[in-house]
Amino acid sequence: MSNSTVEHITIEPQAVSSEPSPRTYRAAVVRDFHSPLSVEQVAAAELTAGQVRVRVEASGLCHTDIHAAHGDWPVKPSPPFVPGHEGVGIVVELGPGETGVAVGDRVAMPWLGYACGACEHCVSGWETLCLEQKNTGYSIDGGFGEYAVAFGRYVVRVPDGIDPFDAAPLSCAGVTTYKAVKVAGTRSSDLVAVFGVGGLGHLAIQYAAIAGGRVIAVDIHDEKLDLARELGAEFTVNAAKEDPVEAIQRLGGADQAIALAVSPRAFEQAYGSLRRGGTLVMVALPADNEVRLPIFQTVLNGITIRGSIVGTRTDLRDVFELHGAGRTRVIRETRPLDDVNEAMADVEAGRVAARIVFEP
Ligand SMILES: [Zn+2]
Ligand SMILES: [Zn+2]
Repeated sequence: MSNSTVEHITIEPQAVSSEPSPRTYRAAVVRDFHSPLSVEQVAAAELTAGQVRVRVEASGLCHTDIHAAHGDWPVKPSPPFVPGHEGVGIVVELGPGETGVAVGDRVAMPWLGYACGACEHCVSGWETLCLEQKNTGYSIDGGFGEYAVAFGRYVVRVPDGIDPFDAAPLSCAGVTTYKAVKVAGTRSSDLVAVFGVGGLGHLAIQYAAIAGGRVIAVDIHDEKLDLARELGAEFTVNAAKEDPVEAIQRLGGADQAIALAVSPRAFEQAYGSLRRGGTLVMVALPADNEVRLPIFQTVLNGITIRGSIVGTRTDLRDVFELHGAGRTRVIRETRPLDDVNEAMADVEAGRVAARIVFEP
């Protein structure tokens, strides 16, 4: 991996920008929940205290962006807004008082765009639960543009040597699945069922294997299961051809099941695949918000069910460290930002191997 694109800029004590601030820039904008995104010139905002301006190099497309653009979830963003919470780029300007990052740094702008830093969640290592949080590409404009504005305290530096097109998917798909495996408590020889081998699943398989787990990948597309095996899955189940609950119970049942497919049915199957004492980790956010799970079996079998939302800045630093050490592979394809609507349609139709990363 080459690092030749990193700009090394000498910073004068007073300097706050490395290039003239843009007055406008191109971005993909959600104007309303029922129309395609519009790629247009938008006005560049003035930076306020603690903010930084980033010239975006790469920006991953997450299923959440599609839900955001459609207004699928109970808490909706307010159009117009720019989606994208896997933006990676170079800091080009610092707002008043920002000292945590420097002009020229390559940073990731993850989903957790801002948190209060003072509440009990923030100070106990659970900033991702902060009630004051702002979310990149949802409640604040995100990475689907040539530039983006972020809070300096909540961007994460991308280490030298990591390709920004790899760093982008790691900033949500990576950190989210890394954290899911962490809260699942996977230990060596545990059987880990990963439901859904897409942008998230292909990384979940690798983190579960790094934690020492033996991985079963479940999907409904054979090509994705081939990819899963390549990335370290020991067993695969095509849920379109075979009942994954039976197949996994034949192996003794999963110690942990990680639900990454945007289908309530897959969550129910993930639950059904657990062995006694097992843990279901809910990660995907289907538009259809309900699952049916049995109380009796949950109680008698001592099942743990827990939700896991993205990860902290520290988790993301761990993710970058593992990638920098050559322990993970990011499967992605690059497309121009102008193709944002086609790209979203392809993700929804399951026509994408893992992750699409836009080039602004
Ligand atoms: Zn995401
Ligand atoms: Zn807080």
